Amino acid sequence: MEELRELREAARRPVPEFLAEVVRRIGLLEELDAEPDRTLATAKRRNLAAFLDQVHAFQPLEGELTLRAFLDHLDAIEEDRGWTPVQPTEEDSVKVMTVHAAKGLEFEAVFVPGLAKDVFPNTRIQHNPARRGDSLDVELRRDRALLPRFDGVMTHFLEGLRTQEEYEERRTAYVALTRAKRYLHASAANWYGENLQKPKGVGKFLSELKRWGEGRPNATLEFHVPEASPSEGNPLAGYRQARVPAWPGPAFREEADELFPEGWRRAALGAAAAGGVGEELVARPSPAEREAYAAAAAARRTLAAHLLEREAAVDERPMAPRTVTVSSVIDYARCPARFRWSVVQPLPRFSGPAARIGTEVHAWIERRSSGQTSLLELEEMPDLLTEELVGDPGRVERLRRAFLESRFADMVPLYAERPFLLPVGDRFVGGRIDAIYGAPDGPWEVVDYKTGKPPAPDDPLARAQLDLYALACIEVWGKRPEELTLTYLYLATGEERSYPAADPAELRARVATWLDGIAAGAYDPTPGEHCRWCDFRPFCEAGRTYVGERD
Ligand code: SF4
Repeated sequence: MEELRELREAARRPVPEFLAEVVRRIGLLEELDAEPDRTLATAKRRNLAAFLDQVHAFQPLEGELTLRAFLDHLDAIEEDRGWTPVQPTEEDSVKVMTVHAAKGLEFEAVFVPGLAKDVFPNTRIQHNPARRGDSLDVELRRDRALLPRFDGVMTHFLEGLRTQEEYEERRTAYVALTRAKRYLHASAANWYGENLQKPKGVGKFLSELKRWGEGRPNATLEFHVPEASPSEGNPLAGYRQARVPAWPGPAFREEADELFPEGWRRAALGAAAAGGVGEELVARPSPAEREAYAAAAAARRTLAAHLLEREAAVDERPMAPRTVTVSSVIDYARCPARFRWSVVQPLPRFSGPAARIGTEVHAWIERRSSGQTSLLELEEMPDLLTEELVGDPGRVERLRRAFLESRFADMVPLYAERPFLLPVGDRFVGGRIDAIYGAPDGPWEVVDYKTGKPPAPDDPLARAQLDLYALACIEVWGKRPEELTLTYLYLATGEERSYPAADPAELRARVATWLDGIAAGAYDPTPGEHCRWCDFRPFCEAGRTYVGERD
């Protein structure tokens, strides 16, 4: 129950964090580590990483990236019945998948069951656009060009819809039947489910396949059609019923014993209704039984007192997250109270023009890096509010120009916006690197674009973000420290600051210290110059005092 409660709380966090929490709790990574088949484990790890990448990359068109939004997104994909390519493992095993999932794959032998009448193809009209409220109007549907025209006669229209359904089923069947390289086993059953009164019989596609095979001298065809007579009845009828176990009986059985022939529950209810235990009932137990009762009651009272004591000692501090982002770790390092109010017990914060402009410029650089900016002129105004632009007109344009004048403008990144999840002990740090330049197996330059001004030279956290990125490159992607160059590009000044990677053991220890502090719930404020730009100053006595004393 406790685990479930914590997971429910975790579900309120951003989806990538929540999923990382689920992965951690179910011990998936440990299980993969213990998998004796390394090839299989690697394939599974890749699948998991690809899934987490997808989750990181998912952004709803509007609203927040919540678990609900993500699940809706998955539902939408499923309902769209799109072809979802899958990559089965190379293990020598039977692969079971839907026809849709098999698109693009081929196998030596393929089994396609269910080619029975009204099963596959099933020409039942799924959505009738003629019935308002049941389906989208024809004119608004994406497939309207394929749908039949309504000529004023409903039966004609319905017939047209059935033809369309069969056409869709035929496309699906084509995919299924053409997955086989050598052997194709296509089958149909007579009975599906226990409610059928009549056998289904061979479906249209299976009959057509048979005819096609008979006309091919190079195809070996074996066709078996077992007879099924409706008079014999459905052999599946009563199948499930026969497997239902006997009902376990009343949940609260009256347990009669010598002391309470009418059952102790009834005796207890009677005593409660009468407002006390009657003399006659008290006299029933023997002295030895009364003694045993007194001992048992004393033991239970002790247990109850102990439980109350433990409950009073429960740590009611807010639950620390197990997955944190790079920026929130740095927030913690700068001021634990700031971390608390942004992550653990979030307070409202003001996303000012600087943040919006930063997001806009980062998105522009990312689009440009992936070659999508041919239509985006330098002068084109981003989607910013007027008041954000009047504060510093031309700022976005200047930042973009600074990027275009940098040496990175004409370089193609190896990765842009690359997500990662870095395990540190039993916790994770998640992040997204702006750009990595270099060759897959050669040296990498890890770049972070900054739209703000460079920090003071003596700022102890000036390179903390790049240090965390370096640790991810080393521990997640297996780079060696000497292969890494870490660079901030400050677009406000055009300045570049580059560093070599620091000692990974020292980095890891530093991150672990911060994460330990987060886990221990150590959230005391550490006021400083950073309070001047802190969104939480209105709530923070320490921050207000610091700034007030110096202004
Ligand atoms: S105002 Fe200063 S001390 Fe208070 S939370 Fe913000 S950074 Fe920390």
